[in-house]
Amino acid sequence: MANISFFGAAGTVTGSCHLLQIQKKRFLLDSGQFQGPWAIERLNYRPFGFSPNKIDAMILSHGHLDHCGRIPVLSRNGFKNSIYCTPPTRDIARLILMDSAHVLKEEFLWKRRRLTRAGIEPVEPLYSLEDVYYCLDLFDKTVGYNEEIRLAPKVNLRFHTTDAGHILGSSQIYLDYPAPKGPGRRLLFTGDLGDGDRPIVNDPARPERPVDVLVMESTYGDRLHKSYEDSVAELEEAIISTIKRKGTVLIPTFALERTQELLFHLGNMRRSGLLPRRVPVFLNSPLAIDMTRLYLKHLDYCNAQVIKGMDRHRSPFTFSGLYFTETPEESKAIHNIPGPKIVMAGSGMMTGGRIKHHLKHLLWKESTTLVIVGFQAEGTLGRRIIEGADTVRIFGEPVAVRARVYTINGFSAHADRKHLVNFAKETKAKRIFVVHGEPAAAASLAQALRASLPHAKVEVPALGETFKI
Ligand SMILES: [Zn+2]
Repeated sequence: MANISFFGAAGTVTGSCHLLQIQKKRFLLDSGQFQGPWAIERLNYRPFGFSPNKIDAMILSHGHLDHCGRIPVLSRNGFKNSIYCTPPTRDIARLILMDSAHVLKEEFLWKRRRLTRAGIEPVEPLYSLEDVYYCLDLFDKTVGYNEEIRLAPKVNLRFHTTDAGHILGSSQIYLDYPAPKGPGRRLLFTGDLGDGDRPIVNDPARPERPVDVLVMESTYGDRLHKSYEDSVAELEEAIISTIKRKGTVLIPTFALERTQELLFHLGNMRRSGLLPRRVPVFLNSPLAIDMTRLYLKHLDYCNAQVIKGMDRHRSPFTFSGLYFTETPEESKAIHNIPGPKIVMAGSGMMTGGRIKHHLKHLLWKESTTLVIVGFQAEGTLGRRIIEGADTVRIFGEPVAVRARVYTINGFSAHADRKHLVNFAKETKAKRIFVVHGEPAAAASLAQALRASLPHAKVEVPALGETFKI
């Protein structure tokens, strides 16, 4: 007997967490953090829906916070067994969790100052740095793609992973389990699936057939992406026109994947002469710098064709005139360097980090260009700017938005609707669960899948729902 229960990324895009019960064994696919408005984030403080101390193992698809961000809570509540993942995922999860613990603590201290004056007790941080250190010991089983692992030999349960092409080390997970009658069954969990044709990550591996049960993400299940080439051309145009105006290009960075992809394109522009040597580029985000070092450590997990095409002695993410600025002093010194220049700084949605200092100094100048290359959630400073605010408040002060603002959407790390439907068709799965999407995106993808795979049973599970598989 086998069951699957959905304890996260069901009815929402974040908090990925699926429980498999196969005979008497229990396995988790991911244990991610719920992110977004408080109505979603408060789910992090609710019980998991199962006993963490009864979980036999976890398989982690990749290192994004919405897939690994509740592991410290899980381990604090009794989960003591192994976490299986690729070597890059282990390293990325470590950095992501440590950074998250710092952010949670900062937010708590800030809220406490405000709320205590109002006589309200603030909610304790979800986890501490100590919780993170304890859970890191559980990452003791690293596995490469296509390596078969026997999870529970007595019940004939095996898994292997293939490249999901989403971020460095991201995996699709195949689980082979026994059926009460006849041959065994196979479940494929897509994790987050990439869009393909990217310079840094490989294309997502095509599905291996047969697949009986498909658990599929639906982040962009209701839309099609702009072409990647058009997005790169738009980035180049934004930079070249700003150099002519002797202005500053500000790029709020997402530390993982987007930063490395941008560095790769900026390096190409420098080598081709589009980005003159006199224009310095600053990467002003300690987390993004650490992540870039991880990409260099795990180049064997990157897109072999692109990396092979480069000079053996040249890193795909560095070039002349690129400066990694880590300390606050270095960060401040950037303002004294006259334009033109390019500054990449976190955070990606401009809710915190050093980008806010740069925005305060430069957003009101007409010579500045703000290049937005990632999703901006509701309620963030980034969202207010792309919605056309004339003035925004930064550190309590009004700042006029006079910079040119480019919103470039084609750099997404998720497959769009067309890719997702084609992928599902190739699996020939008889049962499909659509997860990891806002309700509209998940419903829209489910509808498209029903039309394309008329013999498949397609469901959009609700949070906490269990199904026999
Ligand atoms: Zn992801």
